[in-house]
Amino acid sequence: MTDALAPRTDARIEDRIAGKRDDLIALTQDLVRIPTLNPPGQYYRDICDYLERRLSARGFTCTLVRATGAPGDSDRYPRWNIVARREGPRPGDCVHFNSHHDVVEVGAGWTRNPFGGALEGDRIYGRGTCDMKGGLAASIIAAEAFLEEHPDFAGAVEISATADEESGGYGGVAHLAKEGWFTPERVQHVIIPEPLDKHRICLGHRGGWWAEIETKGEIAHGSMPFLGDCAIRHMGAVLDTFEERLFPAMAARVTEMPVVPEGARNSTMNINSIHGGQAEEHEGLPAHCVPDSCRIVIDRRFLIEETVEGVQEEVVGLLEDLKSRRPNFDYEIRELNRVIPSMTEKSAPVVTTVAEAIREVLGQDPTYVASPGSYDQKHIDRIGKLKNCIAYGPGVLELAHKPDEWIGVTDMLDSARVMARSLERLLLR
Ligand SMILES: [Zn+2]
Repeated sequence: MTDALAPRTDARIEDRIAGKRDDLIALTQDLVRIPTLNPPGQYYRDICDYLERRLSARGFTCTLVRATGAPGDSDRYPRWNIVARREGPRPGDCVHFNSHHDVVEVGAGWTRNPFGGALEGDRIYGRGTCDMKGGLAASIIAAEAFLEEHPDFAGAVEISATADEESGGYGGVAHLAKEGWFTPERVQHVIIPEPLDKHRICLGHRGGWWAEIETKGEIAHGSMPFLGDCAIRHMGAVLDTFEERLFPAMAARVTEMPVVPEGARNSTMNINSIHGGQAEEHEGLPAHCVPDSCRIVIDRRFLIEETVEGVQEEVVGLLEDLKSRRPNFDYEIRELNRVIPSMTEKSAPVVTTVAEAIREVLGQDPTYVASPGSYDQKHIDRIGKLKNCIAYGPGVLELAHKPDEWIGVTDMLDSARVMARSLERLLLR
C-alpha cells in the first residue's frame, strides 16, 4: 500500500488481542457449552441471547431475527439469528463477520465431553469448536479489540450468528438475505470465519444439484418375472449409462477454481442412495414380487464453468437416450435442490485486504482456495447480490464434524490478529 489513502496500522492492536487470550478461551467455551445441535435446531435462542448480552454491553445494536416459516422452523425449534451492528462516528464501509451457530450431531468415538469445552494445552475440545464457534469467538475478539483501539473508526462493524448452515442455511443467512440484511448498500465486505486455516483465503465454492430418479416397472410374482417388469434392472441400465458416459465426461472437466482437495477440481457425482422393491425393514421372509419402482438420489457437484441447466440437461439427455433404446424403459426425475457456484474475484477488496493482513501478521503469502462443498456464501451471492465475500477463519477443515473436534487457541489468536488488521485497513480512513 503506497497510495495517499493507505490506512494507519500499528502493532498495538496485536498486543491488545494477545491480552484477550483468557477472554477468548472463556468465550469459546461458553459458546461450545450451548448445545446448538442441528438437527433438530435446538438452543438457537439461547446462543443468540448470550451473544446479545455480550455484544450489547460493548455498544452493538442487536437484532434477533426468527426465520419464521423457513424449513425446520417451528414453535418447538424456532430458527433464531442475531445481527449485531456497531456504527462508527464517521461514514464508511460496513465489514460483516458471519458465523453459523449450529453444530452437527455428536456421533460416536468421543473421548471428551462434546459439550464440555475442555481446555487441554493449546486446544479446546468440543462439537463445534472448529466448525465454527472458534471462528465466531475469534471474530468477536478481533472486533472488540478494534473498537477499543479505534473508537473513531469510519463505517460499521457487524457480527452475525446464524442458524442452519449445516442444513442449507435456509433458516439463517438465506432468510436474512431475503429480508435485506445482506445487500451491497448495507454491507460492503463479508468475512465468514469457517475453519479454513489461518493462512488460507477461501474464495468460494462449487455448485450442487440434487435430484431423485425413479425407474418404473410392473409388479408380478417373483417366480414369473417375465410377467412383470423389474424396475431395479432398469435402474441398473441407468447406472451403467452413468458409468460409461457420465463419469468419464465429468472426470474430463477441470475447473480454474482453486478447489481443495485437488480431486474436487473435476465435476463429481455421488449416488447418495438406492431403494427398490420391498422395504428393507419387514417381518419374516420377503414376499416374492417383481419391483415396480426403484429410486436413486444423485448429488452432482459442478464447477463454475458449468451451468445448473447444463448439468440437468446432461442427465436428462442420457435418460432420454436410454428410453429410446431400451424396451419399456420409463423414468421420472425430480429436482430436490440446487446451489449455484460462487467465486469472489481475487482482486476484490476483501480478498486483497485479508491477503495483506496475512502477510503482515503471519509473514507468509496467503493460499487461495475454494471449497468442494458449499457454505453460506451462496446466499450472500445469489440472494444478497453481494460479491465481496470470503471465508477466512481458524481451525483445521478436516476436523469438522469429527469426534474429538478441537480448535487451537494460538490459531484463534492469530486469525483474530489478521481479522483486526483487516478491519484497520478497511475502516480507518
Ligand atoms: Zn461450518
